[in-house]
Amino acid sequence: MKIGIVGGGLLGRLAAFMLTKGGHAVEVYERTSQRPAPTSSRSAAFTSAGLLSPISEKETGGNVIFDLGMKSLRLWHQIDDQISEIVNEGMGLFLKGNLFVSSPAEINYATRIFNKIGFNSAPLSKNQRMMIEPNLSDKLTCWIVPDEGQIYPSRALNTLVEATNKLVTNKSVWHFDTQINEFGPGWIKTRENVVNYDYVLDVRGVKASDVGIRGVRGEVILLAPPPNFFLSHPVRFLHPRFKIYIVPHDKERVLVGSTEIESEDLSPISLQSALDLLTVAQYVLPELSESRIISTDTNLRPASFNNKPFFKIKKNLVHVNGLFRHGWLIAPALLVEVFSKLKIPITDYSFT
Ligand SMILES: Cc1cc2nc3c(=O)[nH]c(=O)nc-3n(C[C@H](O)[C@H](O)[C@H](O)COP(=O)(O)OP(=O)(O)OC[C@H]3O[C@@H](n4cnc5c(N)ncnc54)[C@H](O)[C@@H]3O)c2cc1C
Repeated sequence: MKIGIVGGGLLGRLAAFMLTKGGHAVEVYERTSQRPAPTSSRSAAFTSAGLLSPISEKETGGNVIFDLGMKSLRLWHQIDDQISEIVNEGMGLFLKGNLFVSSPAEINYATRIFNKIGFNSAPLSKNQRMMIEPNLSDKLTCWIVPDEGQIYPSRALNTLVEATNKLVTNKSVWHFDTQINEFGPGWIKTRENVVNYDYVLDVRGVKASDVGIRGVRGEVILLAPPPNFFLSHPVRFLHPRFKIYIVPHDKERVLVGSTEIESEDLSPISLQSALDLLTVAQYVLPELSESRIISTDTNLRPASFNNKPFFKIKKNLVHVNGLFRHGWLIAPALLVEVFSKLKIPITDYSFT
């Protein structure tokens, strides 16, 4: 089949890879470049932490996100294997488990969250914690959520493009720096002409206000930790007000995120947010105090009215959107569902 994709962020790039691997002819139109500068208004996926945490996200996302997330964990393994075979480089996928940490004052809050999401593991002993994450503050109680993990967003977004290019004889799949203003069932109007497709996939993320999408602001800070600093698992701080994570990032960086503010303001991080993020980071991992602040970033999560993902099929036009704070977590399973509904055959992925 011939498929046109409007939007080359997370969903667009992943869909292009899965469809090309399935033998389809794909064209992606993306308004920014393949590696857009951090200052530009770019795909939310470039700013994201890439956390793959279905159990932790069950609190806010409920069973829909949990089920899609658990399926996607298995799919990411398979997609990462496929990508590694094609480009000799993985996507930066690590599924070694995520950590919950709580301060002594918030243990009751942690217990309430665990009851809500059905998590009942015992906290790690001091020795276990020293073995796993020696730089964590010893004031904290710490639990491991096995099998959860993370993906390095920029690396994954790029390898999806590179691997797709290797699957085709020419590079006509990608039309970067190309904004699409008009499209409909089975057609996309480009600068030159109208191109016809069997299906058009609309994956414009936060720009799709015409299908009921709003943006939810998120701010992050990228740190270069001091030499000998060690962090190998994403860490989530359990606190009613500061829902903050500290995550290993590509090239030995550490990402601290993220705020969740009901606003479409894309201006730089506020002083209050920076203070909150950095105060928690330093409390959880005191060695981070000698870090250098490399950059800050602000972006918008694409959210529907109820913060749940959706796909809407209108003849040969399919809108997939509303991935909110769960894009990496749920994208593979959501796309498999979409392709199955449309009867577009793709590689057999296994959910078990
Ligand atoms: C601070 C922050 C932290 C996050 N952390 C996580 C996390 O830890 N785990 C997780 O799972 N998710 C996380 N997310 C969410 C995740 O990034 C999003 O859910 C995901 O990127 C949505 O994917 P998408 O493809 O729908 O949209 P996007 O990735 O935003 O892509 C949409 C693309 O469409 C392009 N586009 C728009 N309009 C047009 C047009 N007219 N023509 C051509 N191109 C167009 C845009 O330029 C963009 O590249 C986070 C998000 C933020 C902001």
